[in-house]
Amino acid sequence: MIILVLNSGSSSVKYKIFDIETHHVLAHGLVEKIGDDKGSITHIKVREDGSRLKIKKNEWYDHKKAIKKIVELLIDPESGVIKNKRDIIAVGHRIVHGGEHYNSPALVDENVLDALRKNIPLAPLHNPHNIKGIEVSSTIFPHAYQAVVFDTAFHQSIPKKTFLYGIPYELYEKNGIRSYGFHGTSHSYVAQKAARYLRKPFEKLSLITIHLGNGASIDAVKNGKCIDTSMGMTPLAGLLMGTRCGDIDPAVIFYLSRHLGMSLNRIENMLNQESGLKGICGTNDMRDVLERREAGDSMAGLSFDMYTYRVKKYIGAYYAALGGVDAIVFTAGIGENSYQVRESSCKGLEALGIMIDCKKNKLDKKGVRKISPENGRVEVLVVPTDEELMIAMETRKLVDNACTR
Ligand code: ADP
Repeated sequence: MIILVLNSGSSSVKYKIFDIETHHVLAHGLVEKIGDDKGSITHIKVREDGSRLKIKKNEWYDHKKAIKKIVELLIDPESGVIKNKRDIIAVGHRIVHGGEHYNSPALVDENVLDALRKNIPLAPLHNPHNIKGIEVSSTIFPHAYQAVVFDTAFHQSIPKKTFLYGIPYELYEKNGIRSYGFHGTSHSYVAQKAARYLRKPFEKLSLITIHLGNGASIDAVKNGKCIDTSMGMTPLAGLLMGTRCGDIDPAVIFYLSRHLGMSLNRIENMLNQESGLKGICGTNDMRDVLERREAGDSMAGLSFDMYTYRVKKYIGAYYAALGGVDAIVFTAGIGENSYQVRESSCKGLEALGIMIDCKKNKLDKKGVRKISPENGRVEVLVVPTDEELMIAMETRKLVDNACTR
């Protein structure tokens, strides 16, 4: 069964096409700078022998043109991997915000689209573009199932005492103001992979999963269910990130407005796009931070220390929330690749039984691996995430269920 996964953002569309029986990626790519004259598409075909064919084209795209171009490349005799767009049985869409309506993936119908539209005020930067992706995809693939997989779904098990903010309760009841959490597909995927690696039932483990990419978040998972997460009503809360500030005293916003005369839009943009690592040392790319820190750049060193201190603080908090932990899981671009970030984030947690074996941590290995010592009380793992594969697997389950009904 061929499944296409689409991640439609404001200025980009990412895609991956799978043969879901074998979990093989047939092709993947990215359309960037949508709506800009400098738009481009990068398409990578994965040949049967594992070699890759890369194609890059520069052009102006809107979402419709982008998805049409993806189809063109997927069926082209040279760059293509399928004969006809009808070979695509289902399209799985990554949806950032499912609000309180969804704790599991769903096949798209008018009710689902209505619920997504209702959630736009909660995720104005993401949901409108996700919806656009579904609308365009439904016209381009009218024969295919359309499925939605929510970034918020895994967090719907978080109890009320944890997800509520300490503000007037009616703001939750009337306006849905609460913490929702994001990156749920990734946390759920790596948590289950970790359980399989440890050969223990997922339902009997206490895990802390740490997703460190451009965005970053951390989850406490107990007995197969998420019980706390660091992001909030939006992805701005929690850990320090590439360009987002993470946790901040809300009164800073009043100060910026009253005393510096900044508009709300300007503050929102600053906290989302110009803060985090970038705000401290000028770059949001951890590879640059590490290189400059190594060369003795003190601001890069400071941003690194702030970043890893915040991760450590959350590990301690979630250790308490879980009442002990069986395994800690690092994932995503930084979590999978930076031994420095992993080491520094766990340093000083020995009293909790959390230790890292420096040699294992530095090995440049791929796949799931253990970086804690053999006799460690808490297993520390690196588990590569694959949100698109998870979306494709969830989409397949929905299609199978629909076919057997
Ligand atoms: P996204 O949230 O866009 O999916 P990724 O998971 O790809 O982000 O993570 C991007 C981050 O990973 C960037 O900060 C990048 O610098 C960092 N990263 C990628 N490779 C490495 C590496 N080898 N060492 C350190 N950081 C890395």
